Amino acid sequence: MSLRLEDLPVELLRELVARVRQAVDYSPRDGVTCPLCRTGRRPGQDMGVIKTMAWHGSLRERYHACRVCGHRFKSVQSC
Ligand SMILES: [Zn+2]
Repeated sequence: MSLRLEDLPVELLRELVARVRQAVDYSPRDGVTCPLCRTGRRPGQDMGVIKTMAWHGSLRERYHACRVCGHRFKSVQSC
């Protein structure tokens, strides 16, 4: 792999950082998609849920560790 982060335009890096920082939507039916490697939930898997928080008003947060790339991210479910 010859491409390095230093070679990428700063606009692209900024977009990447924004994407991985943002909480993703959680769907009770479809689960979540990893913001880093874009792996979606697979049948019978919970997409690496580490922690499920209590409902806070109409929102519920979950913490995930992607089973494919290991990226840790947060999801938000709203009812
Ligand atoms: Zn991933």
